[in-house]
Amino acid sequence: MSHTGSSGGQPGPQRTTDRATALSEPTRAYAELVAGNRRFVDGAPRHPNQDAGHRAAVADGQHPFAVIVGCSDSRLAAEIIFDRGLGDLFVVRTAGHTAGPEVLGSVEYAVTVLGTPLVVVLGHDSCGAVQAARESAATGTAPSGHLRAVVDAVLPSLRRAAAEGVDDIDGIVDIHIAQTVETLLGQSPVLADAVARGRCAVVGVSYRLAAGAVRPVAAVPADLATLETPGSPESTDPATPATV
Ligand SMILES: [Zn+2]
Repeated sequence: MSHTGSSGGQPGPQRTTDRATALSEPTRAYAELVAGNRRFVDGAPRHPNQDAGHRAAVADGQHPFAVIVGCSDSRLAAEIIFDRGLGDLFVVRTAGHTAGPEVLGSVEYAVTVLGTPLVVVLGHDSCGAVQAARESAATGTAPSGHLRAVVDAVLPSLRRAAAEGVDDIDGIVDIHIAQTVETLLGQSPVLADAVARGRCAVVGVSYRLAAGAVRPVAAVPADLATLETPGSPESTDPATPATV
């Protein structure tokens, strides 16, 4: 079964098959997400794999082609912004994409049991969790309840930003995304091993709420995010990689 998973004769990423077959599974998966995000940005989504036939077809098993470790922000719905459907994405969301044990376990399940070839950390501009952590650090007061766990998980990114002289909120968000990529790999030997073997890759992307576009800010291996979307010569801006 193709990881692209389109059904019902929809036009889709299959038109890139000839080139895509020469690419690794993680690279193909990333290109698939970038292509879907481009459709979303352009206001031309195909809503693949959302029909009743596909729903029935995937009931017996799932083979998602990407894990999304995203912020819980209500404007960051993964299947919408990447224009995908049922069975495509294995989504784990927490405020500020903080990655505790349950998140790590969920990622490891997807990578090892389901064979998912790509893990994406999905952050965004104006992230409330990052802002809350920033306020907490500035005032020296910790939030009450379990919200403190979220803030505590973001604080290392704030310290890193301070060390690098970054103090604007979106610059801090980018650092927090990169930090989360490193946390996943550093805390999960299972994931790190899969990446070392070339079976999986991890990429961190930053989403802009108003524009709807994702931009890569970190990737392991680093060359993953330099790929243009196969078959989409018009794809430039959202797929244009940043230095990682
Ligand atoms: Zn957020």
